[in-house]
Amino acid sequence: MRILLAFALFVSFAAAQEPVRYTVRFPQPHTHYLEVNASVPAGKPSVELFMAVWTPGSYLVREYARSVEDFKAHDAQGRELAWEKTRKNRWKVQTAGAARVEVNYKVYAHEMSVQGNWVDAGFAMLNGAANFVTLVGAEKRPYEVKIELPPTWKKSISGMKNGADSNTWLAADFDELLDSPIYAGSAPIHEFEVDGKKHYLVNEGEGPMWDGPASARDVAKIVAEYSRQWGGLPYDKYVFFNMITESGGGLEHKNSTWMGASRWAYGNTQDAPENAPAGPRRPSRNGWLGLVSHEYFHLWNVKRLRPVELGPFDYENEVYTRSLWLAEGVTSYYGPLALRRAGLTTQAQALRAMAQTIGQLQNTAGRLVTPVESSSYNAWIGLYRPNENSSNTTISYYTKGAVVGLLLDAKIRKASNGAKSLDDALKLAFQRYSGARGYTPEQFRAVCNEVAGADLSSWFKNALETTEELDYKEMLEWYGLRFRGESQRGAGAPRILTGITTGAATPGRIVISGLRRGTPAYDAGFNVDDEILAVNGIRVRAEQWPARLDNYKSGDSVEVLIARREQLMTLKLPITADKPASWNLEVRPDATEEQKTRLKAWLHE
Ligand SMILES: [Zn+2]
Repeated sequence: MRILLAFALFVSFAAAQEPVRYTVRFPQPHTHYLEVNASVPAGKPSVELFMAVWTPGSYLVREYARSVEDFKAHDAQGRELAWEKTRKNRWKVQTAGAARVEVNYKVYAHEMSVQGNWVDAGFAMLNGAANFVTLVGAEKRPYEVKIELPPTWKKSISGMKNGADSNTWLAADFDELLDSPIYAGSAPIHEFEVDGKKHYLVNEGEGPMWDGPASARDVAKIVAEYSRQWGGLPYDKYVFFNMITESGGGLEHKNSTWMGASRWAYGNTQDAPENAPAGPRRPSRNGWLGLVSHEYFHLWNVKRLRPVELGPFDYENEVYTRSLWLAEGVTSYYGPLALRRAGLTTQAQALRAMAQTIGQLQNTAGRLVTPVESSSYNAWIGLYRPNENSSNTTISYYTKGAVVGLLLDAKIRKASNGAKSLDDALKLAFQRYSGARGYTPEQFRAVCNEVAGADLSSWFKNALETTEELDYKEMLEWYGLRFRGESQRGAGAPRILTGITTGAATPGRIVISGLRRGTPAYDAGFNVDDEILAVNGIRVRAEQWPARLDNYKSGDSVEVLIARREQLMTLKLPITADKPASWNLEVRPDATEEQKTRLKAWLHE
């Protein structure tokens, strides 16, 4: 009782704290600058202000203070106050006794990305970490942002609550402020309700190729599906910031998401052909819906049910967690699964999306080098700092995590004889650990054991802490699936395995951009950046590579003329027939009725 009373007093004290107030203006939006006035409570001889160096969910130090210029400080009467930089992202202001300190600065905003800032003549898309300087130690104060729109812009919108007017936004604390992007401009905004809650799809860049109302109806189906799965919607309103700006990526927030899209995505209902080579795919509707599904699922998984390390955030330093396989990977597992459950894709499309992820995992040599928990822990120096050797040394926690999610789901279903699933484990984890608590890796594993009614400890240890190959047998058997027997490249002539990836960066030239460890070219001494010029004395052109190698038999070797730093040399490449394993999933023709029933139960058919 005493603890509760003390807590209540603390809460009312915090609520009474003076807010930090911002006014954001765009006097010359075509120059990509915004201007911020920040009014912060002082009451001491000097105050220290800071700007975040990273954005939660995007694990890289970005140094947002780089984009700040023309920093000035003054008191309420306009008297200038002295200040100095004390760190790359900190400013110390002498208050001269002022009760509040006003600082003004400009921010250069020309980065269309999940965590960047964008301002142009037509609109602004603002991410908090890149914008708002605040008092050191003021994280728990309330925050207020007033957006002053240029005359031709129609409105602003955010996941935050409105204050005094429709362009003033309120956050309970600094976490909420940084978790709430703000859009200002004139984009079509499609409004819909699910479970009595308001949702907004902000389609900046919506043109004739993008059917706005239809896209909002599709998004509503995804919302309804997840509401059913999680048992309701834990927010008052939710905003989908859909930047149709030939950009990509997505970032989760509690009450909103930032998504990048191509203007051609929603109109293209064709999936990429099954045997399409790896590389960038044509943007498609299912690709975009998959992004919506992924980012929206995060409002539970990672924003409200989070690894214990991911909050409260230290915005000036890296934070480390082993649980991104769950936060990101399991979210990636549900992306295509929920689209199928919502009736937006076919069974074949759902299986194909999962098979592609399995193929990505099994074709990445780094899966045998780095366990997925380590890949998560190293996100700051790994996944977010890739180079041409990364796929040889590490595996993405998105990819392996999604496959672990697929196998874990089947495992729980089998252990509980179909009574329970990963959905149930996530719901129980949500009940226990959502909100301020967060979960440890051990706690999440214990929840799964409890729901499955079985001890999965050694399986978890192998899948998450080692580089042992994952075993698909149990999952395939449970649902009556199999990997299709034929080569992924179809029934054509066998291709030659080189291990060479060539880049598109130099059109018309064959320049090696990646070499897979343990392959003939890797072992023969080929290097990244080598340019391939001729095979056995005959010129080979970009469009003839690698098909030229099909003229040789397995067991032969060829002389490959290359240019390395402009120097010509010849390397011997052994010809080895490629027998890639097939990771295409299909329903077994001899699947039993029981297996078919389980498959339907999983995909909600
Ligand atoms: Zn994600």
